[in-house]
Amino acid sequence: MFVSLLWTLSLHAQAHYKKTIKLMGSRFDITVVANSPKEASYFQRLAVEEIKRIEAKISSWLPNSETSKINRNAGVAPVVVSKELFSLIERAQALSKLTQGAFDLSYASMDAVWKFDGSLKKFPSAKKIKTALERVGYENIRLNKENQSVFLTKKGMKIGFGAIGKGYAADKAKKCLQSKGLNSGIINASGDLRAWGKQANGDDWIVAITNPLNKKKAFSWLSPNNKAVVTSGNYEKFVTLDGVRYAHIIDPRTGHPCRGISSVTVLANSAEMADALSTALFVMGVATGLDLVNQLKDVDCVFIDDENRMHRSKNIQFNKKSW
Ligand code: ADP
Ligand code: MG
Repeated sequence: MFVSLLWTLSLHAQAHYKKTIKLMGSRFDITVVANSPKEASYFQRLAVEEIKRIEAKISSWLPNSETSKINRNAGVAPVVVSKELFSLIERAQALSKLTQGAFDLSYASMDAVWKFDGSLKKFPSAKKIKTALERVGYENIRLNKENQSVFLTKKGMKIGFGAIGKGYAADKAKKCLQSKGLNSGIINASGDLRAWGKQANGDDWIVAITNPLNKKKAFSWLSPNNKAVVTSGNYEKFVTLDGVRYAHIIDPRTGHPCRGISSVTVLANSAEMADALSTALFVMGVATGLDLVNQLKDVDCVFIDDENRMHRSKNIQFNKKSW
């Protein structure tokens, strides 16, 4: 009896299976704790389908997405959208209010000015920045609950989900896999991470916060305990002009990229919220950002400034292990 039980256990030994794939223009690592490679690839496929489904809806780069339709109709007419997109925009608007506009879906007009693909060689002119900035302002995203429509009131206005979409996708992929019976896994959308359950050996998951000065090294470790952990950093996407490094996060008040911070990591109950907040905190800076986070329930954060100093919210818990 004892022997046969052991035999059964070893037949079903669980292991980690990781799949890396480019989705939403970013690297996704989908790790599942499964009984066999076959089971793992079944779950990983489900996650990929779910993320692709979301991308087709929210991408402002795909001409047929609902988001592109909203953008094409800026200043022209309201666009009726799916319940899913409407609700996401509603929640995004709430996060804009919470952060006093530091996170703003309509930042997207600035994409025409600030390019992070190497094509920008000099600081854009004040006129160019001003013109784009006139189209930025979340108050000009009008939502009509009755007919589920979205209207961007100014011509040329645009919305983009760059700061919240990957988090949302990570939440949804997690939900999808859990609903199909997967007890443990990690969806890591380029640093927007959603972990649930435990590692195959029964230990808690441990997440490293990257050292902005050396991407291969960790700054510290923490156990997410079913929380989302999301990092916005200036070390992945940036432009250097006259020796100054500008991050890909734009301050919607000035139209300029943010400076002074190397990374912000946020822990929250959803990756969607953590994602939007990490971007907003980058804009708000250390003092205002910590002040906000310390007032929020179930939200924590760590800033690393450009002198590699760490600033953390009052309730954050690090793992003992450190470098
Ligand atoms: P990452 O994409 O590296 O995880 P973030 O989550 O911080 O980083 O998102 C940054 C992206 O969000 C930018 O590339 C841009 O698409 C968009 N963005 C930039 N500034 C803002 C802002 N103030 N509010 C909302 N979205 C922004
Ligand atoms: Mg973000």
